[in-house]
Amino acid sequence: MKCIFCDIIERKKPAQVYFENDDLIVFADILPRAAIHLLITPKAHYRNLNDIPDDLLIKLVQRARIIAQELSIEENFRLILNNGASAGQIIEHIHFHFLSNAGGINIKYMDR
Ligand code: 5GP
Ligand code: ZN
Repeated sequence: MKCIFCDIIERKKPAQVYFENDDLIVFADILPRAAIHLLITPKAHYRNLNDIPDDLLIKLVQRARIIAQELSIEENFRLILNNGASAGQIIEHIHFHFLSNAGGINIKYMDR
């Protein structure tokens, strides 16, 4: 199965990675729709909200909260999940869009 996000996770495809651990990875969207546009996605391939386990889902949302704290934008971000092709999900590997139009934030990406 061909999956762009799995390729990024497996380092077969480059990405600007903000954070990763054993469970999840956070990287910049290639086509940003806001001043800050990150994608928060599990390392394991789950298609969408209908098949991801609860404990992993919570970790993704917790990570959004932590990112907001790190960037000091706790009161200024959006978290979006396009669930299913009809709702605009293009990449069939579950991900949250973390978006903010807060200005003046210099995001530091990891050396991978
Ligand atoms: P969806 O419509 O599935 O919710 O969002 C998929 C997102 O993945 C889009 O915002 C799109 O710009 C982003 N995207 C697609 N291909 C790549 C890629 O190769 N690298 C990165 N970093 N983002 C991608
Ligand atoms: Zn995948």
